[in-house]
Amino acid sequence: MTFGQKIAWDDTVLPFQLDQSDIRGRVARLDGVLDEILKQHDYPAKVEALIAEMTLLTALIGQTIKLRWKLSLQVQSKGPVRMIATDYFAPSREGEPAKIRAYASFDSDRINAANPFDQIGEGYFAVLIDQGKDTAPYQGITPIAGGSLSACAEAYFAQSEQLPTRFALSFGQSTEAGTDEHWRAGGVMLQHMPKASPFAKDGATGEQGLLIATDIIDGDDKENWNRVNLLLDTVDDLELVGPSVSPTDLLVRLFHEETPRVFDTQSVQFGCTCSEERVRNSLSIYSAKDLEKMTTSEGLVTADCQFCGAQYVLEPKTLGLEAKAGGGDNA
Ligand SMILES: [Zn+2]
Repeated sequence: MTFGQKIAWDDTVLPFQLDQSDIRGRVARLDGVLDEILKQHDYPAKVEALIAEMTLLTALIGQTIKLRWKLSLQVQSKGPVRMIATDYFAPSREGEPAKIRAYASFDSDRINAANPFDQIGEGYFAVLIDQGKDTAPYQGITPIAGGSLSACAEAYFAQSEQLPTRFALSFGQSTEAGTDEHWRAGGVMLQHMPKASPFAKDGATGEQGLLIATDIIDGDDKENWNRVNLLLDTVDDLELVGPSVSPTDLLVRLFHEETPRVFDTQSVQFGCTCSEERVRNSLSIYSAKDLEKMTTSEGLVTADCQFCGAQYVLEPKTLGLEAKAGGGDNA
């Protein structure tokens, strides 16, 4: 495969709709975003693969939800990979890029020969939506199930949102001679349009008693959904992630009989929202005694951002419950 260089549609999400079948979707391609996220830590390849998949899901889902601020996806597990966390920050103005950040924590001595998804043990997949100040955050949780992170996300949408949803994802390291190895990811999301009164059949037929897409639609909806999914089944990895098929061409290839309609492309980039102020806020709940335990031998409190590597070095007497008024570096 030869896809070392930057391509015009890298780091973009293209929204589309299949009007006749009441299905909407997204095509996403990630490249530089993944480089930026993965270079923040020295992750094992299996952890990198999980972060690549999770970041791609975050781009696809984040662009689907009408967000004022932030969508977060989280995996918490008892396995070697204990946590994967991603955030999607909606653009503050139209035409600006959305920002994505991600990181994983893992026990390096427990990473084993099994495939990347099996490094996640028993646990849960969570979706959090924060619309910003003065709104209640939303949280939905489903158990880890189905053999991939995209299967977990499909189960979440069927179970928590009654929205039939399907992902076809591809990700891997490019291996062109003469260029540095780097990660690329591409994928398609399909989702049935929300219904005023969702159909729910008596039983859930998914793993662990979870609902699946075809448990929650019937009649024409189910027929349309199955037909469009059969079309998506024909996609191959190189079409999703390789350099030769643009997102619009991919939609024509897959869904021309469904007359796809495309909307404005959303660009995405790596970005973090950490700041000294946020660190100070998160430490404001601690007493001087607690802070003493966090203080280094140099007499300072340090905090590292796991997402972007930024390091904050603060004076303990300016922090916590008993912080001196007007304290801080700008005082
Ligand atoms: Zn940061």
